Parts: sequence; structure tokens; C-alpha cells
Amino acid sequence: MSAISEAGVVGAVDKELFIGGKWVPATGGRTFDVQDPSTGTVLCQVADATPEDGLAALDAAVEAQAGWAAVAPRERGEILRRAYEKLIERRDQLALLMTLEMGKPLAEAAGEITYAAEFFRWFAEEAVRVDGGYAVAPNGVGRFLVTRQPVGPALLITPWNFPMAMGTRKIGPAVAAGSTMVIKPAAQTPLSMLALAAILAEAGLPDGVLNIVTTTDAGGVMEPLIRDGRARKLSFTGSTAVGRKLLEQCAEKVLRTSMELGGNAPFLVFEDADLDAAVEGAMQAKMRNIGEACTAANRFYVQRGVVEEFSRRLTERMQALPMGRGTEDGVVVGPLIDEAAVKKVTELVKDATERGARVLTGGAAIDGPGHFYPATVLTDVPAEARLAAEEIFGPVAPITPFDTEDEAVAKANNTEYGLVSYLYTSDVKRALRVSERLEAGMIGLNQGVVSNPAAPFGGIKQSGLGREGGTVGIDEFLETKYIAVSL
Ligand code: NAP
Repeated sequence: MSAISEAGVVGAVDKELFIGGKWVPATGGRTFDVQDPSTGTVLCQVADATPEDGLAALDAAVEAQAGWAAVAPRERGEILRRAYEKLIERRDQLALLMTLEMGKPLAEAAGEITYAAEFFRWFAEEAVRVDGGYAVAPNGVGRFLVTRQPVGPALLITPWNFPMAMGTRKIGPAVAAGSTMVIKPAAQTPLSMLALAAILAEAGLPDGVLNIVTTTDAGGVMEPLIRDGRARKLSFTGSTAVGRKLLEQCAEKVLRTSMELGGNAPFLVFEDADLDAAVEGAMQAKMRNIGEACTAANRFYVQRGVVEEFSRRLTERMQALPMGRGTEDGVVVGPLIDEAAVKKVTELVKDATERGARVLTGGAAIDGPGHFYPATVLTDVPAEARLAAEEIFGPVAPITPFDTEDEAVAKANNTEYGLVSYLYTSDVKRALRVSERLEAGMIGLNQGVVSNPAAPFGGIKQSGLGREGGTVGIDEFLETKYIAVSL
């Protein structure tokens, strides 16, 4: 493999808009800066799309739709399979690119490239498994034919925290189902998605199937596309606040929606748990992606008999985590995405300590350059603390003791979110009983990571609508058509 340099991986990315299979500048040649969050330095400029550019992308997606829907499912699957292989071949370069724009340590970035690629492998296999039906009507005379068709041109909006996987989790099923797309990546991390577009084109994706608009004017560019009426689907991953706004916009033309929104995951540790496993799982659930994950454990509820021991062990592990630029060997705690993220985490920790929480480690931002906040453990966190209700999105583990199972379940469910809940116990009956009572779309049962391309990912309550991945992931990009047949 040729040597990989930071300038080399950034330089290799096309930085224009990808519309109708061509790289084109934004109207007026407008661009914006992409920064390295570990230093605050500018990595490069990418095209800054205007609403007109957004419309051009939708035009391309609409024009390509009929031809794309007619491409054989096997061929669509094989494009995904080739793209999967290219992603794996270029994992090291793509991981470095992601670390530079997002900050996560290289090992985690490489893990995300593999995770992202696995969505393509999974949906390559699903493309040829879309089923239909033939049935006798209850009156015995009629017949029902049921078939599935692509939903139509789809709008995809993704966040900065998993710059590639949040894209492939939508692009994979859309390609498999035969839908065309306009995708808008987060302004802070556009490079991974631009690199992905080039790989899909190389893998044989026809012109116009995938169109990418990078922009600093997310609302200005996307709202006209949502209200245009030709796009038939919006798949969004991001905050609940923005998701709510987009749902309102989608109501006008009754777009199908998939919403992967915020989380506030509880992490329950019962006295009968394997404590080694619980601490290991806590480290994963808290520190994956520097705590900047919708699945991040946001609240630790630990039964009183083990709370001291658990807190001591978690603190020891958190204190030992090397912090620094994600490109440095051994670093586990990279920078947060920007200054606003550091400010929010600082405010939440200050609020908790003012209400009586105690800091066991960390607890104060690190002076720049870069946006660093250290791994932090808080204990005796009161229920009224803001971080019990809000997404921390940083490396802070707040611990609160509980006494009974009922109390733990009530505390866990006391949130508007319902994405994931984690639960550690060695009692099989309790494991199933509590899993059933927890209000979440996903449960990590004695396990600190739930994400898997072959499993249905998604939330209930205000964490979202629909599922990505698994056998149901492709349904989000398919419509069911029933043909009534008279014999
Ligand atoms: P965000 O502010 O909601 O942004 C997400 C995406 O929406 C970005 O591309 C953003 O563009 C765009 N956007 C913002 N305002 C918009 C508008 N008015 N119209 C159209 N698009 C708009 O969220 P974030 O801070 O990037 O990501 C963190 C959030 O995502 C957290 O709440 C996290 O829990 C959630 N998340 C959920 C999942 C899941 O699967 N459930 C996965 C990952 C993250 P700009 O970048 O240009 O602002």
C-alpha cells in the first residue's frame, strides 16, 4: 500500500457537488471551510450549495428514477457489493480522512469504515430478497397480487458524528430498493460522504442515482426540496429538534419519513450483574465515539450494593484513557466536534455539581487549541440535573444509585427519548422482565454496543420513526402495491 499522508487523503477528495454523475461547482463558485477539530485549522474548502443547486440535484434524481427502478435487483446488489470491497480496500485512507474532519481516534474511524461497508454488504444481499405475494381473496373468486416498488426519489440528511455509516445505512437500502437520492451530509464532515460518492461511481452506480449537496444553508437548501412534491421520502438522522421541524415540512406533501433522532440511554447495573462485564460494557457504551453517539449511555443507574465498587472501577478505567489528536498512536479520547460542544458539556457538568453531584475524575475542559474535554465520572447525580434529561454528547458518565427494580425501570423510562437502554444482570428472569418494561427500540442486554447492520436499528418515543438495517431496513425505501385480479 502506498504511504498515506494527511494532505494526500484530503487532496484526493473531489470537493464539488456531485449532481447527475458529474462534479460541479456551487452556483457562484461558493465554498466553505472544513476544519480539523483537534487543532481548529482549516483542512480544505468544499462547494457551498445554494437552493438552486439543491433543485438541480433533485432534478437529476427525478430524471434517473424510472431507469434506476428498472435495473435488475441483482445488478443493484452487485454495485453495492463492489462498493463494499472498495471501502474495505481503502479503509486506512478513509479512516484518516474521517479522523481529520471529525476527530475520532483512527482505530474508531477504521471501525466505522468497516461498519459503514457492512451496510453495503448486507443490502447487496437484501436487494434480491424483496418478496411479493399471490393469494386467494376471501370470497374465493378474486385474487390478490402484491408487489413492492421503490418509494421514489429520496432525500437523505445525515449528521457529523458517524460521517460515513449514517450515509451507508440509508444509501445501501435505497440502492437495493431502486430509489434515487439527494443526500446532504453535515457541513462539519462532508469529506467522507464525497469520498463515498466517488467509490459508488467507480462501483458502477449510474449517473443521477446518488446526488450530493454540501452546504452551510441546510434549511434553505433542503426545505424547498421537501416541499417540492417530487421527492417521495425523507430519511433523516440527527437531533430530535430538527427532526420535529422536518416532520412538519414533510406533512405538506405527505412524504414518507424515517427519523433516527436523539437518545438519552439509561445504563442499569443490578447487584447480581457480572461487574467486570458491566464496567467493560459501560466503557463501550459511554466512550464509543468520545460519547458523541445517539446510543451513548447518558445516565448510569447502579444498585446501591455495588454502586461504590462500580464507580471506583469505572473511574480507574476512565482516568487511564489517553487523550489527544485522533491521529496519534493509542489515543482514545479525541476532541469534541466544536467549541459549542465543549461549552455544552461544561455547562451540563457545572449544573450537575451545583446540584450536589461529585466529580470522581475529569470535570473541566482542556484549554485549546482543539476542542478537548476529558473522560469524566460524576456520582450522586440528582434527578433534577439537566444531564438526566438532555443528551450530553460527550465523555461524561453520571452515576445515580437505586434500590429496587421498579425504581430503576421508572428512572430509566423517565425521558422523552426511547432509542436504547442497557441492562446488566445475571438473573435470566429479571433480564427478560426488565427488557420488556424498558421503553426503548433497542436493549443492550449484558452488552454495551447494539449497532449491527443485520439488526433493526431505531427508536420509539421522540427518538424516531422507522428502522435502519436488518431485514426491515429496505422496507423504508419500498412501497407496497396490491393488484386486485378478477379471474
Ligand atoms: P442536527 O443538528 O440535527 O443535524 C443533523 C443534520 O441535519 C445535519 O446534516 C444538519 O446540517 C441538518 N440540518 C440542520 N438543520 C436543518 C434544517 N433546518 N433542515 C434540514 N437539515 C437540517 O444534529 P447533529 O448535531 O448533526 O447530530 C447529533 C444528533 O444526531 C444527536 O441528537 C444524535 O443523537 C442524533 N443522532 C441520531 C442517530 C440515530 O440513529 N438515532 C444517529 C446519529 C446521531 P448542518 O450540518 O449543516 O447543520
